[in-house]
Formats: sequence, C-alpha cells, structure tokens
Amino acid sequence: MHPVYAQMGTTIFEAMSARARETGAINLGQGFADDPGPPAVLEAAARALLGKSNQYPPMAGLAELREAVADHYCRHQALDLAADEVIVTSGATEALAATLLALISPGDEVILFQPLYDAYVPLVRRAGGVPRFVRLEPPHWKITREALAAAVTPRTRFLLLNNPLNPAATMASAAELAMLADFCVAHDLIAICDEVWEHVTFDGARHLPLIGFPGMRERSVKIGSAGKIFALTGFKVGWMCAAPPLARVLARAHQFLTFTTPPNLQWAVAEGLATQDAWVQDARHRFERGRDRLAAGLADAGLAVLPSVATYFLSVDLAASDIALDDVAFCERLIEAGVVAIPVSAFYAEAPVTGIVRFCFVKQDATLDAAIERIGAAR
Ligand code: PMP
Ligand code: GLN
Repeated sequence: MHPVYAQMGTTIFEAMSARARETGAINLGQGFADDPGPPAVLEAAARALLGKSNQYPPMAGLAELREAVADHYCRHQALDLAADEVIVTSGATEALAATLLALISPGDEVILFQPLYDAYVPLVRRAGGVPRFVRLEPPHWKITREALAAAVTPRTRFLLLNNPLNPAATMASAAELAMLADFCVAHDLIAICDEVWEHVTFDGARHLPLIGFPGMRERSVKIGSAGKIFALTGFKVGWMCAAPPLARVLARAHQFLTFTTPPNLQWAVAEGLATQDAWVQDARHRFERGRDRLAAGLADAGLAVLPSVATYFLSVDLAASDIALDDVAFCERLIEAGVVAIPVSAFYAEAPVTGIVRFCFVKQDATLDAAIERIGAAR
C-alpha cells in the first residue's frame, strides 16, 4: 500500500453519514441539500438518457457543456474563457486529483491553507508534493502576506485556494485576492482555485475568481462543480478551467483517471447553466433563510454561532458556548441526541483547532427545527 493511504482512515464525511444511517440521526454533517434540485435539469438528464447517445462522449467533455461553462463564467464573473479552456470532470474531486497529479513533480511544494478540505493533503502527498501550511484563525480566517511569506521557499510551485472556504464559510475579500495574485506573480506560483462554492453566497456577496486578477489568467486553474450550483451533489459533474498550455497538461491526467463523465448528466448541466439562473438565485435565498433559521435556533439554545457568508455550513464555537468538550466529543454527544455534525478538527493536517463544530443548514425547516431542539437539549 502507498504510505499515504497506510496512515489514513475513511473521510469524515462518509464516516459521519454512515453514523447517521446507522442511528437514524438527523444528518447535518456531510454537505448536501434535501432540495430536489432544478426540475428542468432533472428532466433534461432523463430526456438525454433516453434520447441521446450513452456512449463515450469526448474526453474533455461535450462541446455544448464546455461552451456553457465558458458562457456562464463570462456572464457571472466577466471571465473571457474559451470552450477549449474547460475540461469536464467527474466532480470537483476528480478535477482536484487531475490537476494535482498532472502538475506536481516530486518535491514541489504546495501552499495550503488550514482549515482545509480533507482531500487536499492526501492528493498533494500522493502526487509527490510537499504541503506548506498557512494557518487561518477564527473568527475572521484572514489571509495575510506575512503568513504567505513565511510559508514560501524556492521550491514552492503551487498555491491551493478554496474560496469560498469550507468549513469557515467565509469569502476572501477583493484586497486579499489582489494580494494573493501579486504574491503568485512575485513567486511564480500556479494557483489552483477550488471555487465549488462560488454561487452559494449570501447577503448579496459576490464571488470574485482569482483567475480574473492581474497576472493570473495564465497561471490559474479554476475548479467548479455543478453539484453545488444546482444542489445535485450526486451528479458528480465538475470542471477545471485553465489557459491552453495548462489545460493540455491537465487533460493528460484526466484521460487516465476517468476519461469522461456520463453524457446525459453533461447535457443536463449544459442546459441548466444556460437556463437556470433564476433557480440558482432562488436557491441562494432559500439557503440563506435556512442559515438564518439554524443560526437563530442555535443562538436561542445558548450556542455561539460563527458568521457564515457562503457554503452550506455554519459553525459553533464550543468554548464560547460554555461547552467544556472538544469537537469530537461534542459530536458524539450530539449523535446520542440524534444529530450528526462535523468536528472541524477533521479539516486540519496538523495542530487542529478542536473547539468548533460544523452544521449543514440546507434542509427543510422542519428538519432544522427538530435538530435545533435536539441540540439544545444535548448542550
Ligand atoms: N472542494 C470542496 C471545498 C468541497 O466542499 C467539495 C464537496 N463539497 C468538493 C471539492 C467536491 O466536489 P464534488 O462533489 O463536485 O466532487
Ligand atoms: N464537501 C462536502 C462537505 O464538506 C462533502 C463531500 C464529500 O463527502 N465527498 O460536507
């Protein structure tokens, strides 16, 4: 077995969803909505399954979907991507794997921000890369140039940015992004931008893609996911966007990971990107109301809720809530009370923060209310 896998257990999201399945607890752990998703996208998937080819689509994705992704980013983020700069993948997870496997040479250093999505470190290490961690601190999780300067060395080649940031539920400001762009240019770094939460933003906040900042067009890989845009996490349709010289390299890894993604889902996502802006906007408001409902309920139960401006998640600070347990122990207590959540220590590769617990709020009101009652009784 490769040593990276020898030291590793099952991802926290699967582990906690398994506990929910076993115990029947309300699952506010793994990030998925109980929303059915846009009917037009589901109908398009069914229509394509019955009416179109189910044989291998082109390796880089259906031309129609690549075009739709490029158009979508032109409309929403004023980017000038061409269709051949978009490679369709089986979810953002595959895009991350393909990007890191394609670009990292043994010994290359990668700047990673903690807290981080749990796939990053194993993928970087498996590709032969060396993580260089920059720690972001609650409650603001700000990125500073000093922290970046302390992490960078002459061997650093990449910076992996998750923006909006899961689990912190924050978005980098325009000033932070400008600083990051300047830093990448100064140190000749390629930025790998995991922007799967780009449309799940609240209070009128708008996502700014790092690839749109000066100097970044040729040195960024922008990763997105239809699973998040349409709240259809099981679709596993994602993409990576990069200038042609980079995109050609990414495609070499992608062709031997999955080669392609089911064509009916690609057709459905292409149609969704072209026609479902109103659904995406409505969903944003629905999810924002879910956030407010859960935040108010938990606050009434005496929990200290951290701000959430993006993603499906909000977090609670245990010490500030007068709870004298660490996050793992509190999650165990919550499971006994019938609610599954995620201990934020799972988002650290070293020196974890152990006093924060993450909850998913994209659920029906009745589900959130029942969870609030159970959490309030358990605290
Ligand atoms: N990156 C981040 C930050 C995520 O939160 C997730 C899943 N929610 C992914 C990547 C994986 O996305 P996908 O399901 O499209 O593979
Ligand atoms: N990104 C999701 C979360 O943060 C989980 C994705 C997964 O389980 N692969 O909950």
